[in-house]
Amino acid sequence: MKKGFCYFLPNIKFIMRIFLFVTGLIIGSFSNVVIYRLPRKISLVSPGSACCYCNNKLQVPDLFPLISFLLLRGRCRYCGGRIPWRYPLVELLMALLLLLCHAYFGLSPFFYKYAATLGLLLIISFIDIEHGIIPNRLILLLLVWSVAWQLLYPDGSLEGASLGLLVGGGLFYLIAALSKGGMGGGDIKLMAALGFATGWPLVFVVFLLAFLLGSVVGIFLLVGRRKIWGDSLPFGPFLSFAFLISVFWGPLIWNWYLFYL
Ligand SMILES: [Zn+2]
Repeated sequence: MKKGFCYFLPNIKFIMRIFLFVTGLIIGSFSNVVIYRLPRKISLVSPGSACCYCNNKLQVPDLFPLISFLLLRGRCRYCGGRIPWRYPLVELLMALLLLLCHAYFGLSPFFYKYAATLGLLLIISFIDIEHGIIPNRLILLLLVWSVAWQLLYPDGSLEGASLGLLVGGGLFYLIAALSKGGMGGGDIKLMAALGFATGWPLVFVVFLLAFLLGSVVGIFLLVGRRKIWGDSLPFGPFLSFAFLISVFWGPLIWNWYLFYL
């Protein structure tokens, strides 16, 4: 009896991971619709998805996340146009994000809090990469989500979160003012919202990591001649990735920083 029970447990964990992975793929598939349609001001629900080259309506076999892309070898069934790499990538990243949150939080309330926050940041990042903007309504959604959690199920003080918002937004506002347009309004608002979500003092970890990541990628792009000096880089992805690192390893980094510097 005992042996059978032990044998059964790992399978439940495995089934849970498969379930989360598939759920992540489906959410990622919808995220692709948001990334494409929101900046173009197209309704998110209708009309149904169509090929962006030949405008043929996609049928059920074309709509399975990741699987359809692999079966079609990355090309439209009707016109053979290349499906942008962003589609399978966002689906896969969203699935991995759910698995990462589950590995760290289990199915505690924080799983839902951070899975949704990081999922939203994934959408924001890809909109910023493709369009160079961060839609206000997504930043507002992020802030409302964080405020609701702060009020209903806090994992830090309200003072700490508010200070995070002021420091994050303030630092970016200062940089925008000093660099005269080197930092967009969307970046300032996003940093303020993320400052609230991380709170004091982890807002510094997000701030420093984002600049570190931005500098490293910027140097690689300059050396690889993909960008020239003075080109702007969308900063949303760096902020989002810095936030992800701070969610999972922020306190560790902060303690290391206090200890060695
Ligand atoms: Zn097509």
